[in-house]
Amino acid sequence: MEHRIDRIKKQLHAQSYKLTPQREATVRVLLEREEDHLSAEDIYLLVKEKAPEIGLATVYRTLELLSELKIVDKINFGDGVSRYDLRKEGAEHFHHHLVCIECGSVEEIMEDLLGDVEKVVEKEWGFQVKDHRLTFHGLCKVCQKAAVETT
Ligand SMILES: [Zn+2]
Ligand SMILES: [Zn+2]
Repeated sequence: MEHRIDRIKKQLHAQSYKLTPQREATVRVLLEREEDHLSAEDIYLLVKEKAPEIGLATVYRTLELLSELKIVDKINFGDGVSRYDLRKEGAEHFHHHLVCIECGSVEEIMEDLLGDVEKVVEKEWGFQVKDHRLTFHGLCKVCQKAAVETT
């Protein structure tokens, strides 16, 4: 945890930003709830527990800054809510997501499955790919099992 905060601090410094206490509180929440794909409001409520004086606008600005610096990725699973996801250490690409349309669970695939697809896009369309988003919508194992049991 501490070394990841340190690393984020360095990333901010490299772009002449400081890790202010408010920014640090936000980063800590993102690290603690890394698997959770929280919305800005969720993050705000959790940050407020650590830093009661913080305002929603400050949390928003911090999240925008962190996305600009590619420390977090902003993602939308189709429900109109922007969620924030910490970029995994050393990851060149944003990880993939499996979103269950039944229970809403989100699983992550860390392995990059799109390397070959990117090559095709670069070759056929002459487009230089920097990143991508890949979200699969479907039924998780638990919901598949539940569906079999009720039929
Ligand atoms: Zn994720
Ligand atoms: Zn499910």
